[in-house]
Amino acid sequence: MTDTPTPPAQRSFVLIKPDAVRRGLVGAVLSRLENKGLSIVAMELRQVNDELSDQHYAEHVEKAFYPPLRTFVTSGPSVALVVEGDEAIEVVRLLNGATDGRKAAPGTIRGDYSLSNRENLVHGSDSPESAKREIDLWFPGLA
Ligand code: UDP
Repeated sequence: MTDTPTPPAQRSFVLIKPDAVRRGLVGAVLSRLENKGLSIVAMELRQVNDELSDQHYAEHVEKAFYPPLRTFVTSGPSVALVVEGDEAIEVVRLLNGATDGRKAAPGTIRGDYSLSNRENLVHGSDSPESAKREIDLWFPGLA
């Protein structure tokens, strides 16, 4: 009998946004990531400036919701993370819940702690391509 091969670990980029830092929810968010079994590969408190916001949210910069989103994401420190684990990208998105905290399922981070479509506490990469781009942007060399 052969052992089942260990699945290759995948990395995702997570941003714990300024609303979560202000509200003292960093520990609650980290607990959910760690309790699920994801490993923290990198973590840093960062003050996002306009340039980093524009790069991170490159796909949204032309959208009507972007100016207030940029004001929000630059409004105070965030915690940037690289996490690793089996299917980490999808697992983080499931833990985060739907974008709009009012609609996100109870049991998810946004569903339990957010009442907003903008101030929704966390970001998680949405695809392997986004994860590589975002990790290269925030933590060069770790993708
Ligand atoms: N956002 C917003 N207004 C909207 C949609 C999104 O302010 O109508 C913000 C929200 O903070 C969201 C981020 O823009 O997390 C990125 O949007 P996306 O659709 O990529 O959602 P996510 O992948 O974060 O769930």
